[in-house]
Amino acid sequence: MEETAKQDLVFLELRRKLQSGTLFISGDIARDGADVKVESRHDSLLNIQTADGSYQVKLTPGVSLVETLLQRSPGSCERGSHFRLRLRVEQESEAPQSVIGRLRVKVTYSFQCQSCGSTVLQDRAFGRVLPLPNGNWNALVDDWCCHPDPFANRKLLPRDGDCLLGDTFILLAQDTSCEQTLTREGNSSQKASAEVKQKRVSKRVMLSCTSCSAVLGEELSAEVLKFYITEILVKPGEDGGCDITRLSLEPKSDSLRQRFLEQTLASRLVELSSAQSIFRFSIQTPDSTAVILLWLLNTDTLVASFPGESFISTGDVHPREHQSCQAVQAVKVLYVLCSDSKLKDVVDVWEKDISVHPLPLPQSTCEELQKLLMSSTSRLPTFLRCMNSYQVAYLRM
Ligand SMILES: [Zn+2]
Repeated sequence: MEETAKQDLVFLELRRKLQSGTLFISGDIARDGADVKVESRHDSLLNIQTADGSYQVKLTPGVSLVETLLQRSPGSCERGSHFRLRLRVEQESEAPQSVIGRLRVKVTYSFQCQSCGSTVLQDRAFGRVLPLPNGNWNALVDDWCCHPDPFANRKLLPRDGDCLLGDTFILLAQDTSCEQTLTREGNSSQKASAEVKQKRVSKRVMLSCTSCSAVLGEELSAEVLKFYITEILVKPGEDGGCDITRLSLEPKSDSLRQRFLEQTLASRLVELSSAQSIFRFSIQTPDSTAVILLWLLNTDTLVASFPGESFISTGDVHPREHQSCQAVQAVKVLYVLCSDSKLKDVVDVWEKDISVHPLPLPQSTCEELQKLLMSSTSRLPTFLRCMNSYQVAYLRM
C-alpha cells in the first residue's frame, strides 16, 4: 500500500523526567534555524515563529520553557532545523488508566461494543476484581519448580460475580443477558453438551457484536467470556444509557477508533511497565502468532505536532499563519513487524526470550495497530524514524 502521510512540519518531543525536549522544524517552512524564534510568553505556552507563520503549543500545566538552543540537524539543512529545549517541570501528570486499571468491585458497569456503541452486557457488578498471573507465568513456573508444573492444565476461570484481569483482556462469568447481543462464531449452540465443551478446547469460539459483527472476544467455555480491552467500552452506572445514544448518533469514524486503540494500548503499556517492570512486548493474534514486537522506551513523553498534509487541501494563501495545538502525553516505542523477512534474526531472538511479554489481541486489531504504528513513524522527521533495526513510533494517551 502506498504511504500517504506527510512528514510533520513541526514536531515537538518533551521528556518530563529529563526536563528537556527537542523541537524539529521541517525544511519546508524553515531551511535555516536562524529565522525561527521560540519563546514562551506565558507559562505552559510555547510560541514558535517561522518566516511562514506562527505555531503555538499549549504545554500541560506545570511545564514551562527555560531556554532554547539551535542544534544542527544531522544531514543537510534542507531537511529542517532542530532545537534543544530546556524545561522546568513543576508537577508530574499521571498517566490515564486503562479499563483494567479502572475496574472496581461493587460498581455497576455496562459493556459496549467500541465499534458501534451497542450494549453487549448491562448492569454487571463484581464481588471480586482480580489480576490473573502475567502472560509468561507458565514458563516461569517451570523455572521455579523442580517437579512438574502443579498448575499445568488448570485454568484460572471466573466464578459468578468475578472479573479476572489479563494483560489485554478481562474474563467474566457468562449469563443469559448476552444471548441476543453477542454472536458466537463456529458454534451457535448456547447449551453445549459435555462433548461439545471438549471440542472447544481445540476450537476457538470467537464472540462478535450482533449489531456490527466486530470481534469482541472469545467464549472460553459455556460459563466464561473473554473480552479484549481494545474492543469494548466499559461504563460505570446508569448513565451508560446517555452514552449509548451519543455514540450511536456519531458517524462511525476510523479516526475515533484509532484514537481509542492508541490510548488503550499506551495506557496499558504504562501500567504493565510500572507494575511489573516489563518493557518488551510481543503483540500476538489469539493463536499466539507474533505480529509486532514492541519495545517501550519512554513513558514520560509529551508530544505536539503540526501535520504537513492538513495544508494541502485548504487552498488558502496564508494557511499557516496561526496554528495551535495541545501537547499530549505519549509513550515512545521501538518496534519491528514480524512479517519483515529482513529482520528474521531480531524476531527469532525475541521469540526465544521469555522476558518478552505476550499481548494477545484479535487479528484485525493487530493489523490496525500495525497501520497505526507505521503511520506514526512516517510522519516523524526522517532522522527520528529508526534506531538500529527498529522503527520509532509514538502512541498518544
Ligand atoms: Zn458493534
